[in-house]
Amino acid sequence: MSAIPPSFHSLEHEAPFQQCLTCDREFEEIDDPYTVTKVFKGPECVFEYAMCLPCRRNLARSFSEESQQTMKKFFEDNDHLAWRSERLAGKEDHRDWIAQCATCATPLAELTDYSLACMGFGDQMIIDPFPMMVCARCEKDIQSRLSKTTRDQWDKFILDNFEGPPADSLKPDGIPILV
Ligand SMILES: [Zn+2]
Ligand SMILES: [Zn+2]
Repeated sequence: MSAIPPSFHSLEHEAPFQQCLTCDREFEEIDDPYTVTKVFKGPECVFEYAMCLPCRRNLARSFSEESQQTMKKFFEDNDHLAWRSERLAGKEDHRDWIAQCATCATPLAELTDYSLACMGFGDQMIIDPFPMMVCARCEKDIQSRLSKTTRDQWDKFILDNFEGPPADSLKPDGIPILV
């Protein structure tokens, strides 16, 4: 574990994320890990949130069974992810972990649209398989395999939890469901 690097801090608050988007519990006070997700379009972070693991599980459970399996399979069948864990074993610098798309290995330097995610516990970052970067193309690929019910559920979650997310980031492809 190492301190959560500034690239995973909240842009809005200019500080590390303090609490879960959904249940409002403070990360310092809970015994659950949480994830920080940031979506980049061009050089700009258009969307960010942090969520505790129990809330993340609840959200995943609200998706269709079929979609849950699809997402699970997408990562389980991903040889690159296993290879990545082996190759990066012992590395504590988050930049090593986000240097390539976790699913297709495209280098970050060649991308403009992508998402970043890390897993935190208190004020520390848990390494492997996070932190992670997934390129927009892979996100679209995963998205296209999900059921309409799941995509609708996700859109509802976004609308319920974010006041006026940037309209541009909601369309035409929406906010990526992963990572
Ligand atoms: Zn929560
Ligand atoms: Zn990719």
